[in-house]
Amino acid sequence: MLTFIDYGNSKGGAKGRIWAIDPIDGTKGFLRGGQYAVCLALMVDGDVKVGVLGCPNLPIDDAAPLSGGMESGQTDEGKGCLFSGVLGQGAVSRPLTTGALAASQKISMKAITDIAAATFCESVEAGHSSHGDQAEIAKKLGITNPSVRMDSQAKYASIARGAGDIYLRLPVKATYQEKIWDHAAGDLIVREAGGAVTDIHGKRLDFSIGRTLADNKGVVAAPTGGHAQVLAVVQEVLKIK
Ligand code: AMP
Ligand code: MG
Repeated sequence: MLTFIDYGNSKGGAKGRIWAIDPIDGTKGFLRGGQYAVCLALMVDGDVKVGVLGCPNLPIDDAAPLSGGMESGQTDEGKGCLFSGVLGQGAVSRPLTTGALAASQKISMKAITDIAAATFCESVEAGHSSHGDQAEIAKKLGITNPSVRMDSQAKYASIARGAGDIYLRLPVKATYQEKIWDHAAGDLIVREAGGAVTDIHGKRLDFSIGRTLADNKGVVAAPTGGHAQVLAVVQEVLKIK
């Protein structure tokens, strides 16, 4: 098994077929009984073509509202969802089952009609995304709903199905480079569900450079129609430009 794991030594890059796998994304959430995800993405010549997120602790029901307390102590009841997206073909969810794949249904982001009514998703770990900056951004947008904290790419899945609206990942350390396996599947699923995903500078996430998103900082994911407005406030608060 250890030898097999060591085969996962691709340097990534802009050439060929590369599978990015994160067997347990959100390890801290997994340990707390909160959210975690099994993440898989196929990249061809640096572009994500297929993304899959297995989220054993997310509700099966796409319409279930997000609640606080998702960071720990979740029970299995009514939980377990598999999300997938194929470039140009949309995104779907299906209940996680043992055996054959269950029937899927199309998912789409909620269009933002009133930004003040939006719900943010953010990391539980303050060391992975700045909670303080997020709160200031929410305030400037007139958002009063408390942010929903959860670990892993379950955040991308939650906004893609319209349970939440916006996912912000706001850099804490200037030197940290995000890893491709932490974002590839979620980035595609959100975009295929009608969202826009950029970094805090407004650049698309670039998976073609190597194992890290070396040319990007942070993540701003929102419905296409509301992304520019959110990005502008992110940049105002982070004093970019
Ligand atoms: P989350 O569940 O959103 O907190 O993200 C979990 C991922 O954060 C892990 O898979 C790590 O690869 C990644 N991570 C580790 N350190 C940092 C950091 N300083 N900033 C941002 N992400 C990090
Ligand atoms: Mg991870």
